[in-house]
Amino acid sequence: MTHAGPELHIHPDAIRHNLSVLRHHLKSYAVGQTPARIWAVAKSDAYGHGLIPTLRAFDAADGLAVSSADDAAACRAAGWHKPILLLGAGLDLTTLSGAGPGPLHVVVSNPEQVNQLEHNSKLPGLYIWLRYAGSLNHAGFKPADYAPTWHRLAALHAKGRIAGLGHFQHYAYAEDAAHLLAERRQFRQTIFGLSGPVCSENSAATLNGPDVAATTQWVRSGIILYGVNPLGRHHKPGLALRPAMTLKARIHAIQQLEPGEAIGYGCTARARGPMRVGLVHCGYGHGYPRTLSTPAPCSIRGRKAHLFGRVSMDTLTIDITAQPDIQPGDVVTLWGDHTVPVDHVAQAADTIPAQLFTAITPRVRRYYPGDPGYQEPTA
Ligand SMILES: *Cc1c(COP(=O)(O)O)cnc(C)c1O
Repeated sequence: MTHAGPELHIHPDAIRHNLSVLRHHLKSYAVGQTPARIWAVAKSDAYGHGLIPTLRAFDAADGLAVSSADDAAACRAAGWHKPILLLGAGLDLTTLSGAGPGPLHVVVSNPEQVNQLEHNSKLPGLYIWLRYAGSLNHAGFKPADYAPTWHRLAALHAKGRIAGLGHFQHYAYAEDAAHLLAERRQFRQTIFGLSGPVCSENSAATLNGPDVAATTQWVRSGIILYGVNPLGRHHKPGLALRPAMTLKARIHAIQQLEPGEAIGYGCTARARGPMRVGLVHCGYGHGYPRTLSTPAPCSIRGRKAHLFGRVSMDTLTIDITAQPDIQPGDVVTLWGDHTVPVDHVAQAADTIPAQLFTAITPRVRRYYPGDPGYQEPTA
C-alpha cells in the first residue's frame, strides 16, 4: 500500500476469468442448442470497479449493458465496438444520436417511447427490447398492454424502421427458485405466440435453473462477473469465481484497553479483559457501512479478525488482542480475499455485495494492474 487512506485494488483478470466460467456454464447447459449470448452488465461504473479502466476485461462478452447514453458514448470513445444495451428505463429516444461503430440496443418501457419510434423516421437504427413489467414493476408493460405494444413495434420492424425486436424481463426475486418459476411462467404466458428473441436472465436466474437461462437468447450478467455468486458461495453447482475487488486499509495506531474501558462513539464496545485494538484508516466517509460495527469480519496477515466498536467517518477499530505480532503499518483486508469474502461482509451489514461495491466514495484510491503500488489478489 502506498498512501494513508483505504485502497481498492481492482483485478480485471478476475472479471475475464469469471466471464469465461459463465460462458462455459451456459454452454454446458445448452446441450444441442445455441447457448445464450452474454450482456456484461456494467452499470453504476461497473459495479464500482470503474467502467473504462475495466472495459477490456469484458472483451469476450457479446455486448455491454450500461445505464446511460453518456456511459455508452464513453465506451465507444474508449474503443468498444460490440453491441451496447442501454438499460435505463424511460429514456428519451429522440435524444439518441447515431449508434456509433457498433449496434445500439435500447429498452422500451413506456408508451411515450413507442410514440417516439413511430413519429421519428430519422432515429438511428435501434434494436428494441420491449420490457415486461413482471413482479418487479419498476418499468415496463403489464400483461394486457404487452401484446398490443408488441404488434405496433413489429410493424415498425417490418418496415425496417428498427433494427430488431425482442422480449425483455427483469425478475423481482430470482434468488428464490419457486418465485423464479412463477415469474418465468407469467412472462412466458405474456409473450406466448409472439415471435422474437428473449433477454431475461440476471446472475441469480442464470444459476437458479441454468437449463432455462442457457437456452434464452441473451442473459444479462452483472454480479457474477465481479466474482460473487448471488445464491451464496455454497450453492451447487459451484462456479469457480474470483473476486475482482479487494478493499484494504492500514493500521495507523494501536490502542491498549484496560478491562471495563470502552472504545468508539456511543461506547458500544467495552473491554472485558485487557485488549489490543488496531485503529484503521477507513470509515463510513469512505463508503464502508457504519452498520458494520462489532463483529464484522476482516483479515490481517492472512488471518481472520473482526471489528470491535463502532465505525466512524474515517476510522474503524479491530480486535487484535490475540495477535501480538500485529504492528502499526500492517495492512487489513476489509473484503475481497478468501479469508474475508465480500458476501460474508455483506451479510454482516444486512445488505448485498453490489451495494458495498457501489458505495465506495471517490476519496478511495483505485489501483489497477500496472499502477505503482497495485497488488495482485492473494487468494
Ligand atoms: C443490474 C441489472 C442486471 C444484472 O443483475 P445481476 O443480478 O447483477 O446479474 C440485469 N438486468 C437489469 C435490467 C439490471 O438492471
